[in-house]
Amino acid sequence: MQDIRHPDIDQVYIDGQFVVPHGSEWFELHNPATEQTIGRVRLADTEDARRAIAAAKAALPGMKRSSRQQRIDLLERLRAAVAARQDELLEAIVEEYGAPAARSRWMAEYPVMVIDQAIETLRHFEFERRAGGATVRLEPVGVAGLITPWNSDAGFICGKLATALAAGCTTVIKPSELSALQTRMVSEALHAAGLPPGVFNIVTGRGEVVGAAISASPDVAKISFTGSTAVGQAILRSGAESFKRVTLELGGKSPTVILDDADIAQAVPLVIGAGFMNSGQACIAGTRILVPQSRKAEFERAIAEAVRATKSGDPRETDTQIGPMVSERQWQRVQRYIRIGLDEGATLLAGGEGRPEGLQRGWFVRPTLFGDVRNDMTIARDEIFGPVLAIIPYRDEAEAIAIANDTRYGLSALVITADPARGERVAAQIDAGRVLVNTLAHEPQAPFGGMKQSGLGRENGRWGMEAYLETKAVLVAG
Ligand code: NAD
Repeated sequence: MQDIRHPDIDQVYIDGQFVVPHGSEWFELHNPATEQTIGRVRLADTEDARRAIAAAKAALPGMKRSSRQQRIDLLERLRAAVAARQDELLEAIVEEYGAPAARSRWMAEYPVMVIDQAIETLRHFEFERRAGGATVRLEPVGVAGLITPWNSDAGFICGKLATALAAGCTTVIKPSELSALQTRMVSEALHAAGLPPGVFNIVTGRGEVVGAAISASPDVAKISFTGSTAVGQAILRSGAESFKRVTLELGGKSPTVILDDADIAQAVPLVIGAGFMNSGQACIAGTRILVPQSRKAEFERAIAEAVRATKSGDPRETDTQIGPMVSERQWQRVQRYIRIGLDEGATLLAGGEGRPEGLQRGWFVRPTLFGDVRNDMTIARDEIFGPVLAIIPYRDEAEAIAIANDTRYGLSALVITADPARGERVAAQIDAGRVLVNTLAHEPQAPFGGMKQSGLGRENGRWGMEAYLETKAVLVAG
């Protein structure tokens, strides 16, 4: 694979303009499939964060006053500008974190999908409601800090931004350093959309510097964060000082519950699709596979066969199902968890340590499946963020539900059954923000977010919109 060296990214976006950041640290970008350097980005610092926040604050009164129709027009411009860059976005997604072709395509289309969702929500949203004799007004919360992770950055940026603008907020966006190519592309698209200066500002920098400055600033009323649970906790703590409104979309250790009536031919592709989504680097990945003891051997055999048949390799090739890990650090982390699984006595059914055959360059890991996993083992408790799956046997439905819920996370779950009504009954007993029954479909209007340590609040639909609004009751003497 031939890598292109991209021009240096040496600008942040503040107050309607691309400007050279005050920060002077450079961060190297790599293609994880080749380990080659493909460019570098000059990182913003706390001074850039301060300027971005000031610009967003200055733009707030205008945005607050804007009408529903003005906001819809603005979002439609945004949508058209982002749609025009979809093919380039796809290239960048493959290049900077090696998402396999089919997944990258979806990720490149996702920004338009979430902007559409925000427009649809805005069209029907009730900003004024009645409560007895009072009028209840839902008003923009203020400047929103949007902090996003690398694993679907363009989509997270556009989703959070579109909802914040729909609500009448202005924004400061802090994307991940690892996705600087797509951030650059999204910034250019948003600039081309001709939004008023200051309503969005984009400052790529280190999380502990720029992200921390945004989450500590008293001028930022709200933080919407997607990322790890540990950083989510840090943001919550620093936001406590100014009672910031906070939405957190965090990690997961999602169960795939195969009920005893499930058809094996239907179940296996769902198990693999949920588990290996985005090469396992997805917050919603179904990494704990709960199988009935009575059918354990049959499921182990079929799932192991499917894991072995999963093709790792060059993410540009259309039949590749698993690409590389995003960074060497992530590669090391996955290797460490595979060793822990072996040390704790789980049975290796497929894959294992090291690199897949023929892939000696690039941060590729072997798609791995463990059997005989107990739910108290580390590989069943920690989010690994790689293609490592654990089969956990259960005796009866009640035990399956107990195991599914025995986790500090609660983001997503998948139930597989021959009986959809039974699937719904089980779904009702699972503590997760989203439960899918016999499908991997995504509903853009449905609320998305986690219970327990998977997060706080919800994104998308009216639930996502309300997270950017304050509630005011007005009573007027008759
Ligand atoms: P991360 O938590 O390391 O970083 C996320 C963002 O936070 C980055 O922009 C980072 O620079 C910034 N950050 C880091 N330290 C900070 C601090 N002290 N203050 C403010 N900001 C800071 O996560 P990551 O490695 O980029 O992404 C992977 C994680 O994201 C996984 O845990 C995954 O489950 C989670 N995730 C969750 C969802 C969801 O919707 N629930 C979606 C995707 C990813």
